[in-house]
Amino acid sequence: MKADPFVQLRLLELQGLDSALDRLRHRRTSLPELAEMVRLDALVGALRDATVRSETEVSDLAREQAKFEREIEQVRTRRDRDRQRLESGTITVAKQLQDLQHEVATLGRRQSDLEDSELEVMERIESAQGELDRLTTLRTEHFEARAAAETGRDTAFSEIDAEVERTVAERSALAAGLPADLLALYERLRASEGGTGAGEISRGRCGGCHLDLMNNEKTDIRGAAPDEVLRHEECGRIMVRTAESGL
Ligand SMILES: [Zn+2]
Repeated sequence: MKADPFVQLRLLELQGLDSALDRLRHRRTSLPELAEMVRLDALVGALRDATVRSETEVSDLAREQAKFEREIEQVRTRRDRDRQRLESGTITVAKQLQDLQHEVATLGRRQSDLEDSELEVMERIESAQGELDRLTTLRTEHFEARAAAETGRDTAFSEIDAEVERTVAERSALAAGLPADLLALYERLRASEGGTGAGEISRGRCGGCHLDLMNNEKTDIRGAAPDEVLRHEECGRIMVRTAESGL
């Protein structure tokens, strides 16, 4: 294949733009913000079960406390009623009086026991609520951090996308000026050789695979016509000669 040396240099520019586009696309999918969002989503997910457990515990305890409140209220009402009967002086039979006094005392102990139990439940509520608050705060922090990562990602996306757009436009203009056969060969090599279809021979080295050229290869290259499109035997890629080639 033949191509004007100037055209061959344009091909190197094209390779430069394609490599830049590959780097931009790679950067777009490997932004640290994306990994950070995944990490935070996992943390929020892990908190979900613990939060549900904690909420259940708090509401179960609140129900238990309400139950004690009702029981205490019942005992208190009954005790007040008994006391009023005692104080009213209407009961004159000693046995009845004694039974009633006994019941008032029993109810008093019962109320005190219930109040102790309620206090215990209230202490447990305080500790469970503290844990729930801690989990809620943590979740809020994760959400905020995730939102910040998302904003960072969107900013990076728009910068990258703008750069891709500029580079694609430049690449199209450049590719339009290249011969179809050379472009087709380059595209085919680029597709099969990991993104590099053409490279500059630099200091006696292939710019595609970075292997040093053998002396006999250098001799062949020196003898080749300037418009000959050279291929590296080792990697098959197009090799372009420049002033830096060291031949
Ligand atoms: Zn090579």
